[in-house]
Amino acid sequence: MTLPVTPAQTTIEPIPHVINGQLTEGQSGRFGEVFNPALGSVVRRVPLATREEVGQAVEAAATAFPAWAATPPHVRARVLFRFRDLVEQQADRLAALITSEHGKVFSDAKGELTRGLEVVEFACGIPQLLKGEFSEQVGRGIDAVSMRQPLGVVAGITPFNFPAMVPMWMFPVALACGNTFVLKPSERDPSLGVALAQLLREAGLPDGVFNVIHGDKEAVDALLEHEKVEAISFVGSTPIAEYIYQQGTARGKRVQALGGAKNHMIVMPDADLDQAVDALMGAAFGSAGERCMAISVVVPVGEKTAEALIERLVPRIQALKVAPGTDPSAEMGPLVTRQHLDKVTAYIETGLAEGAKLRVDGRGLAVEGHAEGFFLGGSLFDHVTSSMRIYKEEIFGPVLCMVRAKSFEEGLGLINDHAFGNGTALFTRDGDAAQSFLSRVRAGMVGVNVPIPVPMAFHSFGGWKRSLFGDHHMHGPEGVRFYTRLKTATVRWPTGIRAGAEFTMPTLG
Ligand code: NAD
Repeated sequence: MTLPVTPAQTTIEPIPHVINGQLTEGQSGRFGEVFNPALGSVVRRVPLATREEVGQAVEAAATAFPAWAATPPHVRARVLFRFRDLVEQQADRLAALITSEHGKVFSDAKGELTRGLEVVEFACGIPQLLKGEFSEQVGRGIDAVSMRQPLGVVAGITPFNFPAMVPMWMFPVALACGNTFVLKPSERDPSLGVALAQLLREAGLPDGVFNVIHGDKEAVDALLEHEKVEAISFVGSTPIAEYIYQQGTARGKRVQALGGAKNHMIVMPDADLDQAVDALMGAAFGSAGERCMAISVVVPVGEKTAEALIERLVPRIQALKVAPGTDPSAEMGPLVTRQHLDKVTAYIETGLAEGAKLRVDGRGLAVEGHAEGFFLGGSLFDHVTSSMRIYKEEIFGPVLCMVRAKSFEEGLGLINDHAFGNGTALFTRDGDAAQSFLSRVRAGMVGVNVPIPVPMAFHSFGGWKRSLFGDHHMHGPEGVRFYTRLKTATVRWPTGIRAGAEFTMPTLG
């Protein structure tokens, strides 16, 4: 298959903002560089917006809000139906764009689009999802009705690792609920936000309902401080998630801020080890470990399980096909930037200094014809302990840590004591262990013989502890609650009023 965007076709062009439906050139004079990670070269420039430019995007969204909020939900849904078809038709072009800026393999980029589209499909059911509650006769001649209404302008601030899917966790539900949206995509792979905005417009979304503003801390702070931004959805690293939550809520905004992770997978002695190893390979090394649901810690229970896993894992990791994401045989592409490659490599050095045993070393990997690419091979540390930095901190690369546990309880204790609580998994054939794990583990998303338990779009996605700040998970029913405000009315019909004024506390009897 010929990919629509190949490295040779790319030029160093500035990416536009999308304000009020128009592709708008950045005015700040400040730019970030966007790399093709497989080549290690700059392919585009991203403008970093000023406060004023952010203000223009928010004002456009605020102006578009009343008409969009007044549009019947089923009519809003029709735009999303058309958008869904357009994304599907253009999936190859969009996935190639993801690969060219993020580096992940093309098939994985298409998978990310599919997961995003599932949220669009969920949001297409908005007339049903927004149905309110009604109680007849809460008092004599009095009815009560509860309805959910949109908030106004809402903003999404998103990370580099899913440039299409994470924005699509947010805006389909937000728009379907009647809000208008300002997206601040990651400055490392910003083109997808613009491409999705163009498709929304083609689908019939009115101008100003969806805006894209590129930038760094200055743009994010401008969104946090803007009084017309009612709510912020954030996904990214924990320190920034915590900052967004504190700053946003201090200004009275509704905030859901999803942060980093350290996802453990416990492998019990009775597990199907071949199945567990297959699961681990994909979950630890897929997308070069740059997934918030990646398994980064494997916890075999018992020495026999640990040795059997090592025996199977080492040759598999050594044989990983690491290549540019455009290579159809690639299992893993490069890391996103040189800076990130250096950070992950530094963690490998830290692990060695801390005394962990490096069983597979991915450093120094050479990919033919891509000497400047940001490649790192799969790596495996054994005998990692809970006091090491490589255990406590999120590495966000293709580095799997093995922590050996003596018992199920010890493994469960590790997960429950860890600062993060995003996803986790247990591999076993024992229903009792699985039941106990499900009920006692302190994490937001749990897999039983499923390594990456990402909830489907009609459930909600989110972690616990320092993996999520706020009260609502994303998409699914929680997404609808986050992007709407509840209004409850108590209604008495005219005969009740004709009965005359009441001076005692009404008791609705
Ligand atoms: P990041 O925190 O560096 O960036 C996320 C967003 O915040 C970007 O839009 C960026 O421009 C902005 N930002 C960065 N620094 C900022 C600052 N000082 N002030 C204000 N805004 C700032 O995250 P990343 O490196 O793009 O993404 C990787 C991280 O995201 C990992 O920690 C990963 O676990 C996490 N993540 C979490 C989930 C989840 O669901 N919990 C999903 C995907 C990614």
